[in-house]
Amino acid sequence: MPSSINRRQFLIATSSIAATSFAGCSDSPQFSDRYTLQDVDRLSQQREGETRQFGKGPLGDQIYLGYKGLAELPWFELDEKGRLYSADDSVPMAIDSHCHLGMSVFLKPELDLAKKSRSVRHILDCDKSSIGCELNLEGYINGNFTEHDLITMRRDMLAQGLWGSSIARTQTIPNLLSEMDAMRVEEAVLLPIKLGLWAGDNLTENWRVKVAQMQLNSRLRVGFSVHPRDESRVEQLRDYAKAGIKILKLHPTVQRFYPDDESMMALYAEAEKLGVVIFFHGGRAGIEPESSHPFALPRHYERPLAEFPNLRFVIGHAGARDNEAMFKMALKYPNAWFDTHGQGVTRLMELIKLTGGERLMFGTDWPFYHLGASLAKVLLATQDSGMLDVREKILRGTAKELFGDSFNSVRP
Ligand SMILES: [Zn+2]
Repeated sequence: MPSSINRRQFLIATSSIAATSFAGCSDSPQFSDRYTLQDVDRLSQQREGETRQFGKGPLGDQIYLGYKGLAELPWFELDEKGRLYSADDSVPMAIDSHCHLGMSVFLKPELDLAKKSRSVRHILDCDKSSIGCELNLEGYINGNFTEHDLITMRRDMLAQGLWGSSIARTQTIPNLLSEMDAMRVEEAVLLPIKLGLWAGDNLTENWRVKVAQMQLNSRLRVGFSVHPRDESRVEQLRDYAKAGIKILKLHPTVQRFYPDDESMMALYAEAEKLGVVIFFHGGRAGIEPESSHPFALPRHYERPLAEFPNLRFVIGHAGARDNEAMFKMALKYPNAWFDTHGQGVTRLMELIKLTGGERLMFGTDWPFYHLGASLAKVLLATQDSGMLDVREKILRGTAKELFGDSFNSVRP
């Protein structure tokens, strides 16, 4: 422990990382009109309904043994080292709209983002054993985590802020690039999240500098994040927009704020004025602390969509396990787009029917999962010959249109 930090400060910071991490100890939220018993029920109904339908979707069982097991599908193969790749030229070169890197925050444990390692350890480490975990593409992707995986993930999130994570040390830029090359992903949007830790966390700057140093601005587009309770958030947004960075990641459950809170309106107004796209984490994933669930309920996203018609929003994970309500609410607004990450293949096919394939964008949430898991679902959902147009839009066209060339002006 650094001597400049006393024991009390250390404990406060440790618990704040746990509370802001993607999954901490379970704690109960207060009930109010912001979060009701029906909201709790809806999440368990989604889980139960999805499980009941396994094997009954249009494609039948979609269980593979590890990410490597995806080589059973026509678009993938294994190389001589047993690594998954796609050499299928008919698959459009994709843009991954939702990606991250390994993190080092708070005590800033050593993490060299420029270092290549032999293999990547994804948070869902499905190729860890030689047989591979049972990877079910039919349901919401985090349903593949076992209890043991979730414990490992929580420990790893703390490690990324305190003693350093051997898992995060494999979630580096060269490792992401080699997976992108293997999966025909041409560009990825990296989304840092401002955690607002009192000791400071600057993923936006770290990632931008590293990507620029490695001269990878044309393949890795780094967005930015501000903390919703930071007094200078609007100025920060202005500075980033001036530097040409036009995607703002906001995460209601990690940053613990309501998207429709009055205090957010000035930030949205400025983003609208400057042509910044807001990339929200959307809906409940179901593996975060329950106390953060109220922030991500679909109805709390409606006010910004309605009041800022010229501000473009991406709803991450297409609303995650709240997808049904999120879609019902957000599809009314032409300024809402969705990244498809996480949705099971059956649901993805339904979303394509609902939208005609418009407004959906490929996202992977790397390094949580292998890029191939999300890619396989899009390819499966669009395998009919009449769907090639839709496939191109989801994998590439819509992101290109939405994000445009604004990234190209990013200055190091
Ligand atoms: Zn994410």
